[in-house]
Formats: sequence, C-alpha cells, structure tokens
Amino acid sequence: MVSAQGIRELKDIVGKNRCLTAPEDLMVYSHDVFAERRPDVVILPMTTEEVSRVLQVASREKIPVTPRGSATGLSGMCTPEWGGIVMAMSKMNKILEISPEDRLAIVEPGVITQDLQEAVERAGVFYPPDPASQSICQIGGNVATNAGGPRCVKYGVTRDYILGLEAVLASGEVIKTGGRPIKNVTGYDITRLICGSEGTLAVITKIIIKLIPKPEARRTLLVAFRSIDDASVTVSKIMAAGILPRALELMDHQYIRITEKNFKLGLPVEAAAMLIIEVDGFAETVDRQARIAKEFCERQGAFDIKLAESEAEADRLWVARKTGSVALFRLSKMMLTEDATVPISKIPSMVRKINEIREKYRIPIYLLAHAGDGNMHPLITYDPQNKEESERVDNAVKEIFETSIALGGTLSGEHGIGLAKKNFLHLEVTPAELQVWKNIKKSFDPEGILNPGKFV
Ligand SMILES: Cc1cc2nc3c(=O)[nH]c(=O)nc-3n(C[C@H](O)[C@H](O)[C@H](O)COP(=O)(O)OP(=O)(O)OC[C@H]3O[C@@H](n4cnc5c(N)ncnc54)[C@H](O)[C@@H]3O)c2cc1C
Repeated sequence: MVSAQGIRELKDIVGKNRCLTAPEDLMVYSHDVFAERRPDVVILPMTTEEVSRVLQVASREKIPVTPRGSATGLSGMCTPEWGGIVMAMSKMNKILEISPEDRLAIVEPGVITQDLQEAVERAGVFYPPDPASQSICQIGGNVATNAGGPRCVKYGVTRDYILGLEAVLASGEVIKTGGRPIKNVTGYDITRLICGSEGTLAVITKIIIKLIPKPEARRTLLVAFRSIDDASVTVSKIMAAGILPRALELMDHQYIRITEKNFKLGLPVEAAAMLIIEVDGFAETVDRQARIAKEFCERQGAFDIKLAESEAEADRLWVARKTGSVALFRLSKMMLTEDATVPISKIPSMVRKINEIREKYRIPIYLLAHAGDGNMHPLITYDPQNKEESERVDNAVKEIFETSIALGGTLSGEHGIGLAKKNFLHLEVTPAELQVWKNIKKSFDPEGILNPGKFV
C-alpha cells in the first residue's frame, strides 16, 4: 500500500494528472498478455529527474516500483506482482539525436520501436531488431527484455545495438553506462547487464543505439513443404551453408490453416509447413543468395516456391507470418506464446518433439518459429477456466521446456522469464548461478523494490 502522504509526495513530483489512482486508471495499467496485478498508483514521468525523485520516495518508503513500456510482454513482466507504483514510460518518448556520421541514435525509452526504425531509415541508416510487436512496443521495453525478431538471425538482438544507457537506480541515483564510441572496454559491461534485466535492476531513461548502413536490396521467398521434417531439416542445411539469410521463419500446417481461414491470403493450406526466407545486401548479390536458398529448398522436397516480385509483395508475404497469431489471440480465451530456443542443429528434433507433445496432451499447438536462430514459438490456446484442460497445458509446457534444455537450449530466446517461466528456472540455472544473480540484484537495488516477485 502507498500511504496518503506518499501519494501527496508523488503528486508534488509529477503533478496530479500524471499520478493516477482512480480504479479505472489502475485497471488499464494492470495487465500484460500473461498476467494481471493491480498497482496502487501509476506514475507517468516526463524527465529523468522525475524518475529519480519518485524512486527516492519509493526507496525511503519501501514501495515496489514496476517499470512499464507498452505492456506487449508475453510473460507477466511489467505487472506489479507486489502492487505499489507502476512507472509507465510512454511520455518519455523523444528521439533526441540521429547521427549517421557516428552511426547512432539517442532516444528516450518510450519511443515506439517502429517510429525509431522509420526515423533512422529516413536518415539513411538502419536499426535491425524487429519484434513482431514493433508498431506498439517501446524501445525501453525492448532493451529491458533484450527483444529479438525475424531479422535477428542475421543481425543479432537488441543487446547487440545498445552502446550505452542512462538509468536510475532504486535509490534514485542516476548512472550512465557505455557511451558514444563503438568500442568500449572500460570496466564491467553494465549496459549489457541491464539489457534483458526485465526492470529488476534500474529504470532506463535514455538509450544510445548503434545503427548500421541500410541494406540496399532484399529478396523474399515463401516456400511450401509436404513434410515439416523436410522444412526443419532445410533450415539447418541453409544455416550450415554459405549464406546467412536475414530471416528464416517456419510455420506449421495448423498455423497456415488458421491464418488462411481468417485472412484469405492464398496460402497453400495443403502444405505441412512453410518457410519464409529473406536475404538482403547489395543488389548484385541478393539474387544469387535467393537462388542458393531456393536450390536447397527444391533439393529438400519443397513443392511450391514463391519469390516476391516487389517490395509490396514481400510485405504481403510477411502478413502471413504476422497475422496468424493475431487471429489466435482473437479466437481463444487464453494463448500462451512459448519461446523455448535450441541450437540450430537441434531444430528438427525439437519440432518432432513438439508434434509428439501436441498428440500426447491433446491440445492445440500452432507452431511458429524464428527457425534460423532455433527460436520456437509453440502457440497454445486453451480455456483457463477448464481445470482439466489447463492441467494438460501445464504438463505440455513443462515438457517443452524440459526438451529444450535436454537439447542444449534455453527457456526463453526473447520473451523473457517474468512470472511465466519463473517456476521453470531451476531447469536451466543452478543454485550457485542464481545466487550470483541475487548478489547483482542486491548491489543495484538493496531494498528489492524494483519489479519484485519476479525471477530474482
Ligand atoms: C503480437 C506480439 C508479437 C511479439 N513479437 C515479439 C518478437 O518478435 N520478439 C520479441 O522479442 N518479443 C515479441 N513480443 C513480446 C514483446 O513485444 C517484447 O517483449 C517487447 O520488448 C516488450 O516491450 P514493451 O514496451 O511492451 O514492454 P513491457 O511489456 O511493458 O515491459 C517488459 C519488461 O520491460 C520492463 N521495462 C519496460 N520499460 C522499461 C524501462 N524504461 N526501464 C526498465 N525496465 C523497463 C518492464 O518492467 C518489464 O519487465 C511480442 C508481443 C506481441 C503481443
């Protein structure tokens, strides 16, 4: 609980319009896709100084503070497990600088990822990480979750593009990590530590982002297979060959069918699996890369290969990848988007096992994957009110995680731990490693007020 005196102090800092306590406002800031927890108060800071002063009050009064981006997280990360303050970053949304010369941008955390991408591309440079939620999620949320996306198979994840941060510790102290230089080995790499820390170490208030030259051209292929085994073996073969696609995505039969049924895109519903393969680079090289990828697919038994003839057609092919999950969200009472991730060579084994799990537990699983980096997205729909069905889903999820770890993989390639995977951490992290995490947490946040009740 935040005391009446505490609320008065918070209103003094940000003004009453940005310190929300009405039940209907609190409800709006209670959810992400996975969980719901009600805060006592929502603060919408506009400056680093406001963030710092709010944290000073919270630290003194031991009030939990949970930073929040756009709440597109899929794992119960931004929900305030212990109540207290939700600090919503949406009003700190300025692009402060774009420097093609230094190949960087400096932004506040509330900038929408796609707005940043469009702004830097207008300046002739490129920011690759592309979570499928990019039109709504915030760059601060991406940093805090180390978000990935289809293009990350070639270009790397959010963490690989963060040169430096300004962040506020639980005490209210402002720290700066990294900086403008591309190379920087001075001391511990606190920048990379805060990336992916899910709001448990500090509130990010400024981000220095590395940019790269914009690729000149791309080619996009949509490839249909009669067997999912052939499709997944093709993925590992392409990744072992001499080309590095900028995206290599897999969709199974169930996912193709639900997408086609809802959006009528002309997808081959008879296919057991489809791949989207995208290559990019100089105009002279993309056709050659696309031809190599096509030959691999043909050799592996692909029966239908579409090459997009234009940028607009390529964008249309991506609609197939991006809209199916939206249909599932709409149609189901609850959808889990798991993201167990395995080494590339283990993709065929993981895909086979997911199919076995679907049969064994008699649950709908629609398989999507950022297959080029082994990042599986089994989408599971169910009714959480149905106890018997929920139990089958819980067991299936556990078996998916156990399989991933047994194959040398991880619980999460990009969606984070949050509440969703907290109880599975022991499968991957030893007690000694967890203790190191706890020690790190303590040095950033001795009173444990930042996003408490989560993975550390
Ligand atoms: C349709 C859909 C598609 C998606 N596709 C992808 C995908 O391809 N790849 C992928 O990686 N994810 C994907 N996601 C998940 C989600 O979009 C990402 O995790 C995203 O990075 C979350 O950003 P957000 O702004 O919504 O953060 P939130 O969900 O609001 O918060 C996520 C975490 O970040 C912390 N946080 C937020 N802002 C700050 C800050 N300024 N300082 C400190 N901590 C902060 C929060 O406390 C929380 O722990 C998808 C989600 C949806 C709904």
